[in-house]
Amino acid sequence: MAFLFKDFAGWKKYCGEQKIPLYKAVLEYEIEQKGRDSKLIFEKLASSYEVMKEAVKAGLEQPMISRSGMIDNGGKKVFNNPITVLSPEFQKLISRALAAKEVNSCMGRVVAAPTAGASGILPGTLVTLQEIHDIKDEKIVESLLLAAGVALIIERKASLAGAVGGCQAETGSAAAMASAAIVYCLGGDDNQIFNAVAITIQCMLGLVCDPVAGLVEVPCVVRNASAAAIANSSAQIALSDVSGVIPVDECVDAMGEIGQSMESRYKETALGGLAATKTGQAIANKILIKDIEVLPQPKATSKAK
Ligand code: SF4
Repeated sequence: MAFLFKDFAGWKKYCGEQKIPLYKAVLEYEIEQKGRDSKLIFEKLASSYEVMKEAVKAGLEQPMISRSGMIDNGGKKVFNNPITVLSPEFQKLISRALAAKEVNSCMGRVVAAPTAGASGILPGTLVTLQEIHDIKDEKIVESLLLAAGVALIIERKASLAGAVGGCQAETGSAAAMASAAIVYCLGGDDNQIFNAVAITIQCMLGLVCDPVAGLVEVPCVVRNASAAAIANSSAQIALSDVSGVIPVDECVDAMGEIGQSMESRYKETALGGLAATKTGQAIANKILIKDIEVLPQPKATSKAK
């Protein structure tokens, strides 16, 4: 029977006993749970990666202005800025994470990995990683399976939804998935992979979900960029064998505990945090008025006799 992804310790133990890489346990799970063969699973993942790449490209090449006006071509602006804060690679990472997420905010096609709100993190990270290290598509697809295993466990032990666990559950989980993928693609071992996940979660704990006007735009888009940066910093730390000290399963338990204790105004209700600021409220009211104006007029009906 395939491993059921209840916790990270069990996943590592199972793969150690079976002498298989971590991603293979996810592949077995998919085959058993979904009744698909491995060829189809790899094909589907490869096509998902193509959608991620297309989202990055679209975000950087096509106009990205949301109906609310809060999103205005941020990815392109960062990509083309002559001021480079760290390195051209870092600039590309940030611009790509923004770009792919902006496509989602502008109703384009993305891969929800694990959610639409966090759909810029894996694309920005993987496209940049592949470009820098010349990684084969096959390896990237394996890393997506690994990332899916990370999400499965977080989903079971905590949550992947902002409405349940706050933004730590969405962008935090996506960053954890991305950091595992980076470490795997760069040859890290199982301990380093899970340490990267633990460190990433430590950095994202407590983040609330407070979308302005209830739209997945502000602060969602910029959080995709910061989560991608954290995924990379965590991978760098883990690959250097610097321990996160708290084991990954306990980090996920902490995420679940924090999510449970968060007040509902910080769980996608747009009643707290940035959504409740003066400016956030003014934007929400403006959008609401605009929406009322565009509602179609009801058709005239004949009076009842
Ligand atoms: S703030 Fe809320 S809606 Fe936005 S990305 Fe985070 S969890 Fe999703």
